[in-house]
Amino acid sequence: MLADSHCHLNFPELSGRVDDALALMQENGVTHALCVSVTLQEFPQVKALAERYPQIYGSVGVHPDYPDVPVVREEELVALADHPKIVAIGETGLDYYRIKGDLEWQRERFRVHIRAARRCGKPLIIHMREAGADTMRIMKEEGAGEAGGVMHCFTGSWEEAQAAIELGFHISFSGIVTFKNAAALREVARKVPLERMLVETDSPYLAPVPYRGKTNEPGLVRYVAEEIARLRELPLEQFALITSENFFRLFKIRARPHV
Ligand SMILES: [Zn+2]
Ligand SMILES: [Zn+2]
Repeated sequence: MLADSHCHLNFPELSGRVDDALALMQENGVTHALCVSVTLQEFPQVKALAERYPQIYGSVGVHPDYPDVPVVREEELVALADHPKIVAIGETGLDYYRIKGDLEWQRERFRVHIRAARRCGKPLIIHMREAGADTMRIMKEEGAGEAGGVMHCFTGSWEEAQAAIELGFHISFSGIVTFKNAAALREVARKVPLERMLVETDSPYLAPVPYRGKTNEPGLVRYVAEEIARLRELPLEQFALITSENFFRLFKIRARPHV
C-alpha cells in the first residue's frame, strides 16, 4: 500500500491516459493519489477526477508560479474546499526561483491560502523554492501550524525541514531523492521522523530513477519509497505502510477504496 501525496493527473501529459496511469498504480501497489490544483481555472478538472475515481483525491489552490490569474479570495477557497474528496488547500507557497521581481503578490496569495486552510480545517500543501526564510516567517505569522500540512517536493536544508516539523508540518519527498546529485537531500531523508514523512511524484514532472527524464505518473511513487526505505534500512512494505498512514491521518481520509 502506497499513497502519492502530490500529482497533477489533469495536466495534458497525463489527462489523456488516466486509465493507464490508474493501471500502473494498481500494479505497483499505489492505492491513493492526491491530485493537486495549480489554478482555480483547472480546479473543475481536479474535482472531476476526484469524483470519478475512488483512489483519487483533490486539493484547491493557486500555485505561486502563476502571476497572471485573478486574485484569489479566502471565501472562494473555503467554498470550493467544501467537498468530501477535496482534502487540502494548495498548492500554495513561495517560489523565488521561477519568478523574479516584486513578489509581494505571491506572499499575499500565500497568506490568503493559510487563512482559508485555518478556516476550513483542511491542511496546506506548500511549495517552497529558494524562499525558505520568507515561507517560514509567513507560516508563523499566519498561524499555519493550526491547519498543518506538508512541505511538498522538499529540497530544502535539514534546518528548514526541522523548522517545518516544529510547526507540525510533514515533509514530502519526490523522485529528486533518487537523483545522483541529491546526496544532501538523501541526508535529510535519513533524518526526518518517520511519522512526518510522505512520498510523492509531482507527476508529470520529476520521474524517479530509472525513469528520469520520462513522463512521471503516480504509480512511479514506488521508486521514491524504495529509495527512502533503503536509506532508512526498512522493508519497503513497512515504510509504505507508515507513509500511507501519515497520508490518511493528515488528509483525514478514512475510507480505503478497493482497487
Ligand atoms: Zn510545487
Ligand atoms: Zn505540484
